[in-house]
Amino acid sequence: MALAKKTKRDFPQDRIRNMGIIAHIDAGKTTTTERILFYTGKTYKIGDIDEGTTTTDWMEQEKERGITIVSAAVTTFWTPKNGPYKDQEIRINLIDTPGHVDFTVEVERSLRVLDGAVIVLDSASGVQSQTETVWRQADRYGVPLIAFANKMDVVGADFHGTIQSARDRLGANALAYNLPIGSENTFKGVVDLLTKKALVWQGDPSTGSLQASSGPSETGAKFVEEEIPSDMVLSVDEFRNKLIEEIAATDEGLLERYLNGEDIPVNDLKLALRKAVIAKKIIPVMAGSSLRNKGVQPMLDGVIEYLPSPQDISEVKGIDPKTGEELVRSQTKDAPFAGLAFKIQVDPHVGRLTYVRIYSGTLKSGSYVYNSTKQIKERAGRILLMHANDREEIDEAYAGEIVAVVGLKDTVTGDTLCDEGAPIVLESIQFAEPVISLAIEPKTKSDQEKLGLALQRLSEEDPTFRVKSNPETGQTIISGMGELHLEIIVDRMKREFKVEANVGQPQVAYKETLQKIATGEGKYIRQTGGRGQYGHCLLRIEPLPRGQGREFESEIVGGAIPREFIPAIEKGVIEKEDTGILAGFPVTDIRVVVYDGSFHDVDSSEIAFKIAGSLGLSDAAAKADMILLEPIMKVEVTTPEDFMGDLIGDLSAKRAQILGTEKRGNSEIINALVPLSELGGYITAIRSMSQGRATAYIEPSHYEPVPANIAQKIVESSGFTGRVES
Ligand code: GDP
Repeated sequence: MALAKKTKRDFPQDRIRNMGIIAHIDAGKTTTTERILFYTGKTYKIGDIDEGTTTTDWMEQEKERGITIVSAAVTTFWTPKNGPYKDQEIRINLIDTPGHVDFTVEVERSLRVLDGAVIVLDSASGVQSQTETVWRQADRYGVPLIAFANKMDVVGADFHGTIQSARDRLGANALAYNLPIGSENTFKGVVDLLTKKALVWQGDPSTGSLQASSGPSETGAKFVEEEIPSDMVLSVDEFRNKLIEEIAATDEGLLERYLNGEDIPVNDLKLALRKAVIAKKIIPVMAGSSLRNKGVQPMLDGVIEYLPSPQDISEVKGIDPKTGEELVRSQTKDAPFAGLAFKIQVDPHVGRLTYVRIYSGTLKSGSYVYNSTKQIKERAGRILLMHANDREEIDEAYAGEIVAVVGLKDTVTGDTLCDEGAPIVLESIQFAEPVISLAIEPKTKSDQEKLGLALQRLSEEDPTFRVKSNPETGQTIISGMGELHLEIIVDRMKREFKVEANVGQPQVAYKETLQKIATGEGKYIRQTGGRGQYGHCLLRIEPLPRGQGREFESEIVGGAIPREFIPAIEKGVIEKEDTGILAGFPVTDIRVVVYDGSFHDVDSSEIAFKIAGSLGLSDAAAKADMILLEPIMKVEVTTPEDFMGDLIGDLSAKRAQILGTEKRGNSEIINALVPLSELGGYITAIRSMSQGRATAYIEPSHYEPVPANIAQKIVESSGFTGRVES
């Protein structure tokens, strides 16, 4: 297995950046990614050429093949021309964060494994609703960010307004890191505030390439250093001072020097800013226009200078699977191996790829690894680095790296892989529960097997997509994060797996819960002839806060029920919770406590206690004021003003809670919380209500009780005989 020459083994950890790009849809994530791959791929492939110049040959070739960003993580290289890493090759692992509206959970998945991210903002719209969502997710995982104020060329672009909206809406300490030269159709470059260098991109800004997919134009990508335009000298000083003051405020030593009036060297400021970004105290904002090829290279330099390397995140925490105790691992290549599988993808050429972030130690190709989540051994047959247009096989991969592994069969997203001799389970990835489902069946009997395979493949790739078969009806039920999510899945099934299928109407994933504490008795006693059955338990059920899920506990002391039967009771309880009580929906936010019971020396068995558990739950639930919960979606409608009234009226008729409206650029934004059950076909509906001008962004928010009159109807049509309390 030959090593390709281009791989630098033992790449120093401080020269690795595991980064992602996060954004509101349409802010320019794809275009920016393309530009990054273009610029980095270029230096990587043709070596040391002048900044921004490209050989036509290469461009033609690239155009033919198209830059593909299909990998979950692309490895690429960038050599900064300035700054602390001047002329040193930096390895960037660009981790894909899906931009699709229904896939915010997937964003979360990727945030778990990257060390830093660029948040792309639309300079004409500022912070948008999905920006807030990805922002919160980045916060939850402590991911340091720098911001790229994209689309500085569009009408209404407002750099400082965008920064202000990040400060107001995100509560972020967002600060101008550079200033745009010109705006809208005169935008042509940026002034770096710390170095006071003006960078101006070549070519007439108003006629730059407008086709995002055709790649950057040769002239557009090239920039030169110029004098700071005379009308900007004052504002550069003003914003430079502001930036320096804020940087100094994060570092005691610097603050003293700053207050003493010392002229602090740029390198010291950069070092302090790097610390502040990693500590999430400052978000530097850089202006640009990806489409017009302006401002992208300085942003890349910003990634290198300010976003953390694996070295900045020195320790990784996990759990010892045997003792449940916390373990700490250092991110060095000599430590025992541990990594997290964060994405499964099926590659047409090499088959099933498992993307792994290595947190400690060394992974060798052909070796056996231990999946500590599933407690199985798997063979890591081959290890690949995925580049934008090709893949490269390597023998070993080290702590801090991101690789694709071929040969793992049973490992899924979120599993920990490690050295069997030093087992550890790393913090897994949280996935939201699906909120919508539909029945699916193949058009012809002969497609049954193909359908099963396709669904299995798709669910392996996407943990927010679930497949379940209903043994009673023989139907297959798929569920996901929204109508669009399921539509895309069904479409992929047709296109990629050539399965024709009939799909039912989407069904909202309701849940059931209780409103008060209740107790119940479950007795399963059969003592007629032969060996009898004896299971008996007393249960108490208690409501848990919304979103808490399920808990089960035993308070049995003194052997009222032998210990070995407690898991059987729990099994019966879970089965009943899954089946539902009121209307056939899973029960949630419930704690079940078994506090008493009895047994029989001969007749007691697991099966008897399991049935008793299930009966006990039904009995208690009957007294606990069960209600239905429904998924509530966060909806942001963007529309021209003319259609505002109609759209708000329509939302109000859908039981929406209108949170507010605001003006952004030329559009009006309506923010609302709307029950998912009212949103069937909503995107199509508002298109026709607005001559195709209104768009909506929808994502799951939380669960809330269904109003009693509506709940009553759902229960009646469910065929269950549950009672509804209001
Ligand atoms: P994504 O949804 O965040 O991936 O956004 P895309 O990269 O697909 O961009 C959305 C739209 O905005 C596309 O039509 C792009 O051509 C356009 N776009 C992206 N960046 C810029 C920019 O800097 N200036 C202008 N004028 N349009 C841009």
